[in-house]
Amino acid sequence: MMRQETMLIGGQWVSASDGGTLDSFDPFLQKVWATIPQATEDDVTSAIEASDAAFRGGWRQTPGRDRAVLLNRLADLMDQNADDLARIETTDNGKVIRETRAQVGFASRNYRYFAGLADKLQGETIPLDNGDLFDFTLVEPMGVAVLITAWNSPLTLLANKLAPALAAGNTVVIKPSEHASCSTLAFGRLVEQAGFPPGVVNIVTGDGRIGPALSTHPKIAKISFTGGIVTARKILTAAAERLVPVTTELGGKSPNIIFADADLKAAVIGAVAGIFGASGQTCIAGSRLLVERSVYDEVCAAVLEKVGTIRLGNPLDTATEMGPVANRAQFDRILGVIAAAKAEGAEVAIGGDAAMGEGLENGFFIQPTVIVNAGPDLSVLREEVFGPVLCILPFEDEAEAVRIANATDFGLAAGIWTNDIRRAHRMARAVESGVVWVNTYRASFVGAPFGGTKQSGVGRERAIQTLREYTKVKNVMIDLSEEERDPFAMKL
Ligand code: NAP
Repeated sequence: MMRQETMLIGGQWVSASDGGTLDSFDPFLQKVWATIPQATEDDVTSAIEASDAAFRGGWRQTPGRDRAVLLNRLADLMDQNADDLARIETTDNGKVIRETRAQVGFASRNYRYFAGLADKLQGETIPLDNGDLFDFTLVEPMGVAVLITAWNSPLTLLANKLAPALAAGNTVVIKPSEHASCSTLAFGRLVEQAGFPPGVVNIVTGDGRIGPALSTHPKIAKISFTGGIVTARKILTAAAERLVPVTTELGGKSPNIIFADADLKAAVIGAVAGIFGASGQTCIAGSRLLVERSVYDEVCAAVLEKVGTIRLGNPLDTATEMGPVANRAQFDRILGVIAAAKAEGAEVAIGGDAAMGEGLENGFFIQPTVIVNAGPDLSVLREEVFGPVLCILPFEDEAEAVRIANATDFGLAAGIWTNDIRRAHRMARAVESGVVWVNTYRASFVGAPFGGTKQSGVGRERAIQTLREYTKVKNVMIDLSEEERDPFAMKL
């Protein structure tokens, strides 16, 4: 039966005030499987007002211990409902169930991690030059935080933002992508079940038309956004009007660099999984594989052999390694990028087209595609494809590897495969990215700060320092002196 979703505003599950809806497609069957409300601007305003009322009405004064109890309860509920949440997300965005299932566990771990920090938001006492003055800081929540997520990993991306926002005492308005809102809405039911007061967590759905309303309302104190650079610029421009701080988690064109001294078997598996996991639709996809010249042919052959064995199929089947891409627009765009690369003379060694075959007839399947001997002029080497397309290119030495790795506007992640510990350290410092993996790739753990540099974004998620992005520091100075003083003499 088709799901008919509603949104969560001020503790009520509601349709759009004008009754508008959007279809949500199952990308494996290319069928509408749910409808979601297309919120109006008034609905967004109601959500922000409800969030602000909940903040001022008590949530900001809630002891950290109580927030921690709620966050831990929410994590328990996620674990208990993990199979359901994963199935909903996989049906909505086509990501293989083995990954969405693991991601629900990752998300619940995130809530537990920040539950542990909710009662540790402490300030400092600061010794000043003048001993008569007692100085200390208060760490305070910011207020209403707007959390906007992309469709590729809705629950994980949300946890990266919601867990620290709530732990720090903020209230939120969440906007998932129109292409995959259902898991976030199912999660909203668990928020309610966990016992969060009405209005603390609000969820509005709809397409980019409601974007402006989500970044311009005067009661918004913080925005955290995961998505593409074009949308990020719009949000940053709107936020600049009111000086609202924005965390941006954006795209990448990440290099995976294999040196000749590496464990090549492990490196090849890491390289293939690093790009074709999630059909290449991850911000950290290792889409540029740099291989030292002396082992280039050997690595290319091993990569192509491995790619030829990737199992495409129903994303709900635990044996499937690559599902469909998430929607029609993605499908058309990725095939367009591949066609443009071919037109520019790219040497496609495997793949390069839509994937056909038994069980794939109805889905947005694209063949895992590898371009070898990728020259620096290929536009596919500069653009984020966000699809199953790997470019392999050779390098002569460490200096050239660094130069190629950094020849991108992005700076999200990098992989380095070597058994030389000195080289690993040198490379980790030299690559311009927010995340560096050595002898592994796409390993994600709560506690390790995640985020980009350059055009990949600003801010860090999943770690202790993330709390700073959802709090403000107030300095308090108390004059304890008793002597009479010149009222015009400034204390310095
Ligand atoms: P997108 O088009 O930028 O959309 C992201 C979110 O912003 C969606 O919820 C979208 O809603 C919403 N949005 C659209 N216009 C808006 C506006 N004017 N104001 C406010 N919100 C607006 O990106 P996407 O295609 O969903 O995601 C792919 C991108 O996300 C890739 O570049 C990928 O690398 C990046 N990403 C980054 C990370 C990371 O952690 N660094 C993780 C995952 C993905 P609609 O979808 O309904 O239009």
